Amino acid sequence: MANEDWFSLILDNITKERGISLRGEPTGEIPGEMASETETHEGGCFCGAVRYALRGKPTYSANCHCRSCQRAIGTGYATWTGAKPENFEITRGQPAIYKSSPGVRWGYCRDCGTSLTYAGDDWTDVAVVSATLDDPSFVKPTTNVFLDHKQPWVALDEGLRKYQRFPD
Ligand SMILES: [Zn+2]
Ligand SMILES: [Zn+2]
Repeated sequence: MANEDWFSLILDNITKERGISLRGEPTGEIPGEMASETETHEGGCFCGAVRYALRGKPTYSANCHCRSCQRAIGTGYATWTGAKPENFEITRGQPAIYKSSPGVRWGYCRDCGTSLTYAGDDWTDVAVVSATLDDPSFVKPTTNVFLDHKQPWVALDEGLRKYQRFPD
């Protein structure tokens, strides 16, 4: 898939109706120390074949405990950071796309297998696997979702918002 195709898929989402609040919480809810509008955060896969840039303030950060994230990321839960599609750019290579169900696109590196992104027809924002950022330390998850699938060996930060599935 050409870079343009990947990007047009993402850009399609701009026009989609906003769904649950997690899909695009107001940036005002993100703690102030998170990236400013002018910051750029780069990231990429394990081998470096795919690189991306995330510009401006992320729209949200959340931990998802669903079984799909557990499998795709290969750990107890995935910490996602959201970006408006216009603020997200693939800067090197091109992610392979896995469609786990219609309208859902997981981006990953075909060379090293790193999971990088999630985009979907029902999602306004592009989600980036926070751990693939070059410096993930600025990310401040505010929410745990899909706790119905949480593994017993995962300890929760009780200070974060909790949802058994997605927020209504
Ligand atoms: Zn790679
Ligand atoms: Zn998930």
